[in-house]
Amino acid sequence: MFNLKALIEAHMDELAAIISREHGKVLADSRGDIQRGLDVVEFACGAPHLLKGEYTDGAGPGIDVYSMRQPLGIAAGITPFNFPAMIPLWMAAPAIVCGNAFILKPSERAPSLALRLAELAREAGLPDGILAVLQGDRTLVEALVDHPAIKAVSFVGSSDVAQAVYARGCAAGKRVQAMGGAKNHGIVLPDADLDRAVSDIMGAAYGSAGERCMALPVVVPVGEATAEALRTKLVAAIASLRVGVSTDPDADYGPVITAAHKARVEGYIDLGEQEGAEVVVDGRGFSLQGHEAGFFVGPTLFDHVRPEMRTYQEEIFGPVLQIVRADTLQEAIGLASRHQYGNGVALFTRDGAAARAYAAEVEVGMVGINVPIPVPVSYHSFGGWKRSAFGDHNQYGLDAFRFFTRVKTVTQRWPEPDAAPSARSAYVMPVME
Ligand code: NAD
Repeated sequence: MFNLKALIEAHMDELAAIISREHGKVLADSRGDIQRGLDVVEFACGAPHLLKGEYTDGAGPGIDVYSMRQPLGIAAGITPFNFPAMIPLWMAAPAIVCGNAFILKPSERAPSLALRLAELAREAGLPDGILAVLQGDRTLVEALVDHPAIKAVSFVGSSDVAQAVYARGCAAGKRVQAMGGAKNHGIVLPDADLDRAVSDIMGAAYGSAGERCMALPVVVPVGEATAEALRTKLVAAIASLRVGVSTDPDADYGPVITAAHKARVEGYIDLGEQEGAEVVVDGRGFSLQGHEAGFFVGPTLFDHVRPEMRTYQEEIFGPVLQIVRADTLQEAIGLASRHQYGNGVALFTRDGAAARAYAAEVEVGMVGINVPIPVPVSYHSFGGWKRSAFGDHNQYGLDAFRFFTRVKTVTQRWPEPDAAPSARSAYVMPVME
């Protein structure tokens, strides 16, 4: 793992170019994708400490109890298109240092980076057969989930698929963690530093063309005055956004992943208009000079979006930001808490007591306070609530070491050599005396 970390660092630019060329995210964003995966590789280097078991000396006369974490055997990871480096590394690094063999099935829409990572892992000294990359789609996923030799399945993707993979894997008696989609809310209180909040919301809503499960596609200003001021500042910020090809160093974001996804995002903008939301900035029909056939979607802003609208309830996964106005913080927290997804949420405020109450109450797994994209650092763990995650263990952090191992607990007795054996067998449940 130490070697792999060094090799990924040495090949950072080459890896970022592979991601940007295939996925379309801008180069600096691709580096961020790799860096957040690298953080987990670094964390996995601490495996000897993280795999230590528990020990009780003298649990009874001559009796000690200890536990050890053992590998499961073969684990499989199924990953989405939007983070070709980070998510495979979230899974592969902990799985392997826990002693498992790992089969990675990357997204068929961004398949190349996984192969390059596997080559680097081999160069780092990983023995053949410990990391395999298989390319395919649903057929292969189902074959992996059904295969009796595969003991654990880690999945990240959209919620319907996550739920299906979770149900199928659990029915086969496997360990499964399946992360799904998201619709993260950014709540803005009247006392927030509005310029800072707008800058954060812009990056989180439009960065990577909105194709992040921790993007902020919904902003909830509290109070009409906050809403009006926020809207004015967002419109001004959008006017200076630059959409471009992934190699353009001045571009803020690039194309969406496919022509079909562009059509889907634009379809949601049509729907939002039909549902009665106000299209403040319209990104439909965006065309980049010299790249007219590219899958670009312009930044889009909706205002007066209501909770009963489908465009609010569903994940759009594009550069579309929706303003949902609320009168109180409680109403804003309620919106995030009642939403089918519960991946991330952010609050912008200067009010410590309000922030504290919100963090305690909101029914969402990853909570930001003046932090727009609260993806936890590698030594915490990543996971949403509700339809954003199925299963019991989060990705990376200590949870990954729990997910990729099973605990064996040994109770041993070493009687003194000259101690008299028990005169009678014990027919009652043994208890410690
Ligand atoms: P996706 O669900 O289409 O695909 C994910 C993986 O599942 C791919 O490897 C794909 O080949 C496979 N797959 C697709 N359809 C399948 C089916 N019917 N049966 C079995 N396997 C199938 O997701 P995507 O479009 O690649 O990624 C975007 C989605 O992932 C968004 O919903 C996003 O929010 C989510 N996501 C979630 C997280 C998280 O950690 N919660 C992180 C990143 C992305």
